[in-house]
Amino acid sequence: MARVRRIDTPAELAVRSALHSVGVRFRVRNSDLPGKPDLANRKRGWVIFVHGCFWHRHRGCPRATIPVHNRPLWERKFARNVARDRRVRRALNRLGFRCFTVWECDALRHTDQVVRRLLVGIAAI
Ligand SMILES: [Zn+2]
Repeated sequence: MARVRRIDTPAELAVRSALHSVGVRFRVRNSDLPGKPDLANRKRGWVIFVHGCFWHRHRGCPRATIPVHNRPLWERKFARNVARDRRVRRALNRLGFRCFTVWECDALRHTDQVVRRLLVGIAAI
């Protein structure tokens, strides 16, 4: 089963527009970087992933449900996704990037808080 990769999700758009409004510069669709980070600033050396809670398994999140049918199949699939995320972060770190992960639910519900945290992280690089 092919992994459905939606682009320009509402969560991504919320983070992008909030960061833009405080003057943070970045590129989207970074298909040449490992894991295709949703946002990246190569010069400053950071990337941001806006992760869907379901596909990327946001721990403790009500959105990270497991479908009842074919449960073992889903569990394998989710384990692969989580392992891939870990590999991608390591690869980006090796290339000199700091990685930030924003969860979809936080991006939508607590956008200001998320952006404040990102600004602190980005400033610390
Ligand atoms: Zn979540």
